[in-house]
Amino acid sequence: MLHKRAHDPMADEKRGDRILSHGMPICSAKLGIRGFCDVVEFTRSESGVSITGREGKWLPVPVEYKHGDGDAKEADELQLCAQAICLEGMLCCDIPEGYLYYAEVRRRTKVPLTPELRARVMAMFEEMHRLYARGYTPRVKKRPGCKSCSLREICLPELEKTRAASAYLSDILRQTEDTAT
Ligand code: SF4
Repeated sequence: MLHKRAHDPMADEKRGDRILSHGMPICSAKLGIRGFCDVVEFTRSESGVSITGREGKWLPVPVEYKHGDGDAKEADELQLCAQAICLEGMLCCDIPEGYLYYAEVRRRTKVPLTPELRARVMAMFEEMHRLYARGYTPRVKKRPGCKSCSLREICLPELEKTRAASAYLSDILRQTEDTAT
């Protein structure tokens, strides 16, 4: 329900000098990715950017919704930083910080988008594209966060302990050859 609410594109809200845009599609040629932001919060500011259909200038800040108790995880910070890099490229602006909103404690944590964090995001996406080009899927390590991960049905971390399909096929072929000889 948390993500359904955050990803409803019809649910843009105006609250005084702020506009909350839900489920905004984003992309980055620099990172080679596309996706959606849970929420982008635009605050009215002279140093902001123009938005179609709105008067004035607005500063964008990504807000990522998470389950959990407010203890920021590195993966959450990397995701938020990637969203900010996408928004910076799309809107031609600088975004020095973003927010992680933790539902359990109903609290936001401010995340400074440091050069170190940005460099880590760049390096991880470069590695991802290298692996994709090689057609290699790295094995995952099941962790407590898997239970509430929205990618669980695709990632299938339970298969971590199963044998590789290639090993299974090799065994079958070997058995078939043994039987034939
Ligand atoms: S399900 Fe996969 S992507 Fe999600 S946290 Fe677990 S290992 Fe990571």
